[in-house]
Amino acid sequence: MITDIPTSDEFSSAAYAQFDFAWDIVISFLTTLDEAGQYAEVDNDDKAQFWEAARQRILTSLIIAQQGIELAIKGKLVNVSPFLLIAGSPSDWPKDKTGTGIAYSEFRTIDAQDLIKVYNTVHDKPFDQKFADLFEQVRRLRNQAMHSVNAGLKISAKEVIMIILEAHEHLFPDQSWVLARKEFLFNAPAAQVYFGNDFIDGMLVREFCTVFDLLTKTEGERFFNVTAGVRKYICPECKRHAEEIDGPIPRYAVLDPNKPTSTIIRCFVCNEGHLVSRTPCIHPGCRGNVISEEYDRCCTCGESQ
Ligand SMILES: [Zn+2]
Ligand SMILES: [Zn+2]
Repeated sequence: MITDIPTSDEFSSAAYAQFDFAWDIVISFLTTLDEAGQYAEVDNDDKAQFWEAARQRILTSLIIAQQGIELAIKGKLVNVSPFLLIAGSPSDWPKDKTGTGIAYSEFRTIDAQDLIKVYNTVHDKPFDQKFADLFEQVRRLRNQAMHSVNAGLKISAKEVIMIILEAHEHLFPDQSWVLARKEFLFNAPAAQVYFGNDFIDGMLVREFCTVFDLLTKTEGERFFNVTAGVRKYICPECKRHAEEIDGPIPRYAVLDPNKPTSTIIRCFVCNEGHLVSRTPCIHPGCRGNVISEEYDRCCTCGESQ
């Protein structure tokens, strides 16, 4: 008998934990650099030295992200049958020496390089080829990072961010990464020792300001559903949270729909629609006419009305 058979949900939450950890590492570098730029002049030489110092840690985050992808695929296979993951011929399987069964974890599992093949064989809808290519690319990079000390092997923070966003999009298409990240921040160790969790919403805003600026307009539309090529407004709720931590100005909300008469702006971070009146801003020099009803603030210049 095989005991302690893992469930698909256990694999999924383990996958999420890896994505979160990998994200945590790279995002902390990106926000640190952004913040440093607010207080001092950071030139290109400084940036190059910063990223060189972060190189090994970013490689580590890639290794962790790859493990997350692997665990997520395993979870999907376990959904079909947990025994799909067991590798080798029965003659190589561990023996039940005590008569109480053999723990699932004692079996050797199939190699990462076979995961896509197995998935595509047992599911009626195979993985998108783009995902198969991404998986292969990340697996190779991970192997290089794990098994060599190649000083030339460089992976940028953006590449790791993109790997996580793309993999998450393919593996958990119905789930929002922003929401998952918010839950992680609220459950993080730091959140357990501070009174009140106000600073966490601010941290989320800071993270996604940084990520939103890092992505191209098309990537922003793809991953966060923020229409490319339309005017971006300050989200009044995110602005309030950002102020709690002296964070950046969150200019990533869009009119929904994008019409001169629209009275709602939608924000991908707080995941809310905010009512706005279409009256001119009272501040001279600001030509905005999108005023938050709830916060009585101009969403163009950010000033109170
Ligand atoms: Zn918001
Ligand atoms: Zn204004």
